[in-house]
Amino acid sequence: MKYKQRNMSMGLRPLTLLIRNLLLQRGTIRRMTSEIDKEELKKRLTPLQWHVTQEKGTERPFSGCYNKFYERGTYTCIICDQELFSSDTKYDSGCGWPAFNEVLDQGRVKLTKDTSNYMVRTEVTCSKCGSHLGHVFNDGPKPTRKRFCINSASISFHSAGEEKKTPS
Ligand SMILES: [Zn+2]
Repeated sequence: MKYKQRNMSMGLRPLTLLIRNLLLQRGTIRRMTSEIDKEELKKRLTPLQWHVTQEKGTERPFSGCYNKFYERGTYTCIICDQELFSSDTKYDSGCGWPAFNEVLDQGRVKLTKDTSNYMVRTEVTCSKCGSHLGHVFNDGPKPTRKRFCINSASISFHSAGEEKKTPS
């Protein structure tokens, strides 16, 4: 499909066409947004959070606030708030970083081969905003055998009690 510049008078277009255009433009819009927001983002984040999420950094082992943290709740991307991991799949791997056995949904993360630092690893990034989260290894416990090794600096915890209430 060919991408065409969309003019602003889209109010009366059929819904199907509108959705198609939105899908076509989604990638462009996302790129534009991320460039505009970079400065704001840098102010909002700590230097470590910036380094980890935007420069694919790694926090020092055993230093992250969620390393030995097992309260019930949900972990979201610190940049875009997408829900990524549940405390139900968090376990103590002993590796020095928060470890999860599974993602809330496979579509929430993007996995990419990473050959930096003379290793072959699988990098985990947020599927929505592209932030670096950590790496995934195949030495985790059953049932998935996966160990999502995630930097505390890239995620934010929301306890089960403070989750949004469903409308009554
Ligand atoms: Zn994100």
